[in-house]
Amino acid sequence: MAIILDMLAAPFALKKLRQAREMLKDVTPLRSDCGRVCGGACCKPDETGENGMLLFPFEDRFYRKPIEGFSFHLVPDDTLFKGGTRLVCTGECPREQRPLACRIFPLRIRLISDELGVNTHAEAEVDPRAWAVCPLPEQGGLRAISADFTTAVQNAGDLLCRNVYMLEALLNEQRMLDETRRL
Ligand code: SF4
Ligand code: SF4
Repeated sequence: MAIILDMLAAPFALKKLRQAREMLKDVTPLRSDCGRVCGGACCKPDETGENGMLLFPFEDRFYRKPIEGFSFHLVPDDTLFKGGTRLVCTGECPREQRPLACRIFPLRIRLISDELGVNTHAEAEVDPRAWAVCPLPEQGGLRAISADFTTAVQNAGDLLCRNVYMLEALLNEQRMLDETRRL
C-alpha cells in the first residue's frame, strides 16, 4: 500500500521539489561567492567521509544515475522521515545538481502556524548547524546574508509546505533541532 501511495504522490511532490530547487538555483548567501570567505567549508567532507546532506522526500530520484563531474553515493537515513536518504559527496559537484539542502544552507526553513495549527507559512532562519562550519552566522546572522537569498529560501519553504511529504520532513527537522536547542 505504501508503495502505491508513493507512486501516486511522487509526481506532485517532485513538481514542488523541482520548483523549489529552481528558485534556489542562482541565488547565493552573499552577493559574491561566499565560498571564497571560508574555502568552501560546508562542502568539505568530515573525518569520517560519511557526513552528507539529507535529501527531501523523493529527491533521491534525481540521483539514481551517475552524474558527470559529481562523485557521490546515497545512504539510507531516517533522520527526517522513514525511508529517507543522505547524499554523501566528495566536496565538489556541478552547481545545478546540488541537493536542495545545499541550496538552502546556511539557512533553514522554519514553519509557523496559527494557534489552530493551520495557515502555515515559512520563514528563513540561520540553521543552528551552520555555526560549526560557516562564518556567516557570526558576522551578523540573517543580517549578514543577502536579502534575495533569504527571500528565496522563504518562498521555497512556502511552496514546499503545501505538500504533505515535504511538510512532514520539515516539521520533523524542526522538532529535532528545537529539541537539540533545549538540551
Ligand atoms: S560555509 Fe557558509 S560562507 Fe562558506 S561556502 Fe558554505 S554557506 Fe558559504
Ligand atoms: S553536494 Fe555539492 S554543494 Fe552539497 S556539500 Fe557536496 S559539493 Fe557541496
